[in-house]
Amino acid sequence: MNILILGSGGREHALAWKIAASPLTSKLYCAPGNAGIAREADCVALDLDDHAAVTAFAKKKKIDLVVVGPEAPLCAGIVDDLEAAGVKAFGPGKWAARLEGSKGFTKDLCKANNIPTAAYRRFKQAAAAKTYVREHGAPIVVKADGLAAGKGVVVAETVDDAEAAIDMMFGGGLGQPAWEIVIEDCLIGEEASFFALCDGETAIPLASAQDHKRVGDGDKGPNTGGMGAYSPAPVMTDAMNKRVMDEIVLPTVRALKTIGAPYKGVLFAGLMITDTGPQLIEYNVRFGDPECQVLMLRLMSDLVPALTAACDGQLKTFDLRWHPDTALTVVMATKGYPGPYGKGSTIDGLDDAAKVEGVEIFHAGTRADGSRILANGGRVLNVCALGKSVAEAQARAYQAVDRINWPEGFCRRDIGWRAVAREES
Ligand code: AMP
Repeated sequence: MNILILGSGGREHALAWKIAASPLTSKLYCAPGNAGIAREADCVALDLDDHAAVTAFAKKKKIDLVVVGPEAPLCAGIVDDLEAAGVKAFGPGKWAARLEGSKGFTKDLCKANNIPTAAYRRFKQAAAAKTYVREHGAPIVVKADGLAAGKGVVVAETVDDAEAAIDMMFGGGLGQPAWEIVIEDCLIGEEASFFALCDGETAIPLASAQDHKRVGDGDKGPNTGGMGAYSPAPVMTDAMNKRVMDEIVLPTVRALKTIGAPYKGVLFAGLMITDTGPQLIEYNVRFGDPECQVLMLRLMSDLVPALTAACDGQLKTFDLRWHPDTALTVVMATKGYPGPYGKGSTIDGLDDAAKVEGVEIFHAGTRADGSRILANGGRVLNVCALGKSVAEAQARAYQAVDRINWPEGFCRRDIGWRAVAREES
């Protein structure tokens, strides 16, 4: 098969690594890609906002499958446009991608289908939202509708904080004024991510993971796109995985089919595991980054037939095999991230680092300059490792990190700490 991956981060490098290893893959392209992806695929400079250009490329190169990495093109309807032109594409169409694009849509869908999620109200005006917050009390969660790259959520500890968040969101503090906000109850428990593969009719479980969103050790400091992750999530027992499939994922897939927006692709459920069971915090309509990297390391089966079966509505009898070991990834970022940072610093020692047992390094934001690898973004590298325990995977990943010579970079030193503490106790 000729396969085209869309995207340029660590998630897409992990997908490219796995897809390139499939005996079904004859030619692999990635647009736009990065320096690491270039080892697995031909990188092409396509603008993902230009659906006509992507479609024309796919037609010209006789692409059998397009795999869409990030959410923005999915929410903009790239899968619909490719399929309309007769090109098979993995990922949800625009209507189904509202699960990530609109919090109000998702909350209403959950309510109508008894899918467990925090109680909520939708507001279009600040005054009514503030009255609700004052009546309800804190802690309370304020969310802006629409894609906000992880910045549209404020978990307010006090009523004053909640009112300030409402003013900020309606006042354009997220770039443009929110057209609607959702205010919901604050859930208490342990967070985990759960991934499922969907074919429009049904879904099969992929695996679970946990990530570290804060930039600093001890989960302190500003939020980021993710500084590390591990899979599986210890809190996700077999029984909990089954509850998530039965109570959350499968009812969602059925509901979307019923409203004429069948969901194909990866469904990523952000969960709070509470005393009474799993609650949905949010949906994403694609693989997580960096969660995808640890999932690909644990996946023993060929990914390509699974992606094809999802596109073709053939998942019902599909089965995937997973490595029982833990996979863990440490994100290396440019100093300054998630604030302003420089570009173009040189990274050395990558080949030596990759020799550590069980280690795989994915590039998130790099470019090549001759034989040199240069940093080209905020999150730059994913140093991943498999291990018999979380502690072993963690030790291997940091052994590799320590072989990388990149003075302008940094990483957290405690990825997986909660899971390691659980193992030790
Ligand atoms: P979201 O973008 O919806 O995933 O929210 C970002 C983060 O805010 C989540 O990962 C949670 O840590 C937190 N969060 C969101 N909604 C809630 C909630 N209802 N209760 C507690 N924490 C929440």
